Amino acid sequence: MQNDLRDNKWLKERFRYLYQRYFSDIEITNNLIIKFGRPCRTRLGSIKKGRRVENFNSIITINGYFRDLGIPGYVIDAVIAHEFMHYAHGFASPHEQAYATPHKGGVIDYDLKERGLGDILKSEKQWVKENWENYLKQNHTYKSRRKSIFRILFR
Ligand SMILES: [Zn+2]
Repeated sequence: MQNDLRDNKWLKERFRYLYQRYFSDIEITNNLIIKFGRPCRTRLGSIKKGRRVENFNSIITINGYFRDLGIPGYVIDAVIAHEFMHYAHGFASPHEQAYATPHKGGVIDYDLKERGLGDILKSEKQWVKENWENYLKQNHTYKSRRKSIFRILFR
């Protein structure tokens, strides 16, 4: 996708594309919001329920660093897909909860591979492993602790 501005509108379009290509069998029955959050060292993305109790929103937040065009698009795709699998599994969504815990037995990666996202997932993991720590060194403005990013990297 050619675009030199990664804003929330771009993110929404990216989601729509991925949804149509890989997830169109999964019903979206509430208001699903996807947006960039703050730049963050440890969390690449997250999904949570909005504040409204009745007919709640589901909110997918993507790391604010990913607005940077230096981050490959497939990294963002993989994170969007990961968070949407949580939605499909009934975490922070109206779907029936499919597992006791969100990452039980590697279900997310398993399902993503089943849906044909294996290559994207593999590229993402490789990119993160090879580049993320360095990226943060160059871009993170806070004083960072001498703790390996990979130990605390989760989403
Ligand atoms: Zn997760």
